[in-house]
Amino acid sequence: MGYASTRSVALIGITAHVVGVEADAAPGDAELHLVGLPETSVWPARARIRAAILNSGTAWPDARITVSVTPVIPPVYDAAADLALAVALLAAAGVIPPERIAGRVFLGELALDGGIRPVRGVLPMVAAAVRAGISRVVVPAECAREAAQVPGAVVMPVTRLADVVDQLRHGTLRDHHGQEPEPAPSSSLAVDLADVPGNPAARRALEVCAAGGHHLFLSGDGPATMLAERLPGILPPLTDEAARQVAEIYSLAGQSNRAPRITPPLSAPHRSETPAAIFGSVAGNRPGAVSLAHRGVLHLADAPEFARPVLDGQCRPLDSGQVHLAGLGRSVRYPARFTLVLDARPCSCPESWEECACTPEARRRYRARLALLLSRVAVRAPVEWGDRGARTGEPSAMVAARVLAARVRAAHRLADTPWRTNAEVPASDLRTRFPVALEAAELLRSEANTGLVTADGLARLLRVAWTLADLRGADRPQLDDAASALELWKGADGDGAR
Ligand SMILES: [Zn+2]
Repeated sequence: MGYASTRSVALIGITAHVVGVEADAAPGDAELHLVGLPETSVWPARARIRAAILNSGTAWPDARITVSVTPVIPPVYDAAADLALAVALLAAAGVIPPERIAGRVFLGELALDGGIRPVRGVLPMVAAAVRAGISRVVVPAECAREAAQVPGAVVMPVTRLADVVDQLRHGTLRDHHGQEPEPAPSSSLAVDLADVPGNPAARRALEVCAAGGHHLFLSGDGPATMLAERLPGILPPLTDEAARQVAEIYSLAGQSNRAPRITPPLSAPHRSETPAAIFGSVAGNRPGAVSLAHRGVLHLADAPEFARPVLDGQCRPLDSGQVHLAGLGRSVRYPARFTLVLDARPCSCPESWEECACTPEARRRYRARLALLLSRVAVRAPVEWGDRGARTGEPSAMVAARVLAARVRAAHRLADTPWRTNAEVPASDLRTRFPVALEAAELLRSEANTGLVTADGLARLLRVAWTLADLRGADRPQLDDAASALELWKGADGDGAR
């Protein structure tokens, strides 16, 4: 009776794979067979496709129809392939001319009434199609603007299966012209360091972390959130490549309209969020808050209040720059390379610092919840509300200019390496390739000899010393840089965890 083939795209994590969808119509009972996919994952799809076709005013083909998706990735059916399956089977049955679906990619989940629902991840999916040489993409209308961000994509937005069938039959399915430009995402970052009262030590710490990519711990009762929110604004703007990665992650999260384009992202999950919301979910193929911080800042406010698995689970992305999730026979990785900002009040009681009567032991236990994370933090600073009339400091633009100059220095030094910031340089290379001034090395070594600084701690001190030298415009860290790195590491209240 007939055969037709078209394309769709399947996602594993953030990685998109173009898949072929083939349909064959043969004499026999009017049935739909989906081959190559686990039965439990296809029966809802079969029900959706059948209902959508019938509710689109098209008679169900009087044939035995077999549809296959190849290669089978992932081993669970992705509803974004619904539309491709529906048009392939209708083309095989002779309802649509098969040649009109051949050179296109179809994306969209079908509703029972024949509507076409938006799908998450359209940006990486369309990008994969264009890379594979298929520029003509049929997407749900809600996703058209997102799809049109991909250079070279010819986007055909659709809202109902009935319209798609009608336009394919009459050859009138057209790409969408007159795409209005994407509105700039309303920036939550219209905030400035000039608004933050006092806290010179914390402001300095913020600048050092921005310049070197170091993680930051702010302790005390003060404007920690104000400071964390202002860190993206003093970081260098996203490169084109970083902006593309960030946009794809936000697309997969279903938050395309919130994707930052220039200023690095800030992700600040609430302590009540589930581990799935923080790290992502393999079942829904949905990245979490740590991936929404990729190339930007993750802020954990009141960090000790987060669940222990959430706190300790941060170590993996901190060490590897990605989240690895496994389950349902799948294994996915989401990018998650960010600068961490943690803050903590002195203890768990609601009293202000002056009125708190908790024992030192209770405070120590509260802070100990962060031990694993603090072992990866290079810079600590106190925050306090202090005098409301305190002088405010420099505006973000001035700080950002110094940060950028320091980053340029570091990037120049690291030009022949895979690393771009001081925080990324491995300990072994710090020793062998980037020697510091003799007095600086001696100071840090004597600190290490006291037993208070571990080998990892020593490497973190060296990285910060390099950042301080970069901020000064110096060739290499001198004694003062090493001493300042030690101070920043201990924090002004001297409670640095080792
Ligand atoms: Zn207390």
